Amino acid sequence: MKNKNFEGIYVITIVLVILSFCFLSYLNIQEEKIKHSINTQIEILKSPIIFLNKIQYFYDRGLLEYNKKNPEKSLIDMEISKSFISAYYFQKDINLKNILKIINLTEQNIKNNKNFNFLKYQKNLYISVSNISHEYYSKTQDLIISLQNLLYKNKFNTTIIEISIIIITLLTLISMFFYKLKKIFKQEAYKDPLTQCYNRRYFYEKIKTIPKGIHSLIMLDIDHFKKINDTYGHETGDYILKETINIIKNNIRKNDIIIRWGGEEFIILLENVNKNKAFEIAQTLREQIASHNFNGIKITASFGVKEIKNKITNEDLKTLDNALYLSKRKGRNQVNILD
Ligand code: GH3
Ligand code: MG
Ligand code: MG
Repeated sequence: MKNKNFEGIYVITIVLVILSFCFLSYLNIQEEKIKHSINTQIEILKSPIIFLNKIQYFYDRGLLEYNKKNPEKSLIDMEISKSFISAYYFQKDINLKNILKIINLTEQNIKNNKNFNFLKYQKNLYISVSNISHEYYSKTQDLIISLQNLLYKNKFNTTIIEISIIIITLLTLISMFFYKLKKIFKQEAYKDPLTQCYNRRYFYEKIKTIPKGIHSLIMLDIDHFKKINDTYGHETGDYILKETINIIKNNIRKNDIIIRWGGEEFIILLENVNKNKAFEIAQTLREQIASHNFNGIKITASFGVKEIKNKITNEDLKTLDNALYLSKRKGRNQVNILD
């Protein structure tokens, strides 16, 4: 009845959760991009130290070749050292002039083959490289730390969003579960356990929501049911009640409502059905019940019909009951209609 609004809220919540997950995926992609770009920056920042080590390595190798009396090979290593400098020339914040000067001088001396002191130049080169490394390291270390912090901070924000979405989803699922449970309990509270028909409580709720118009009520009561119980037993009586409901269901519309009004007394609510049509339906039901074989038992039922306009009042129910009573009084197994 009023549940439609609640269902709407749950649909909106589910849509919001789905959208949140899409948003989260988008954030994760963005985070990956940022992470990649920061890592690349860190690598670029670290690379000059590596390349300074390479300059030293080839310079050392050049010394070894020189000592082995291989000045040509020594010159090749000097060239390689220089090529590392030119490869990194774009690192403008590093002053490479000293290193370049030392390598050029070493090259000159090897070429001139004078009695030059390689170790002296090597020492100068090492001092120069270590100065640059030190200066560069202290300059970039803060930057690397702040970039790494940025990575961590970014991850932290996404985690909070992830946790929030998981909590929202869990809360939605839990509340949906309880909502369903409540609905099931409510449905059960409105149903008669034996016949699975609605009960009086449901009927009084339902009539509040009936739209304006012409509707009809059929009331039926199984004839001499007490005798059936006495003759065949209570279990057979239960079976006959359930079978009677099946017959009724097979002869009315899917949306028509059957209410167990009392022990073997039922009301059928037919929306937008006038009294003539309702009388016809009641006659069909009467015939079907009377001709049905209930495991070798024959029964009949009496019917009352009442047309209602716009809403169902207590007066209407009293008249309906009178119509049924009339059928009983006039000999049972018949339909009577009262205005
Ligand atoms: P009438 O033709 O005047 O309606 O006679 P009746 O015997 O059907 O009427 P009465 O109201 O005296 O008896 C109704 C009987 O229905 C009494 C009760 O034992 C029986 N009954 C009520 N509920 C159930 C049920 O759930 N199962 C069974 N087996 N019997 C039920
Ligand atoms: Mg009866
Ligand atoms: Mg009765």
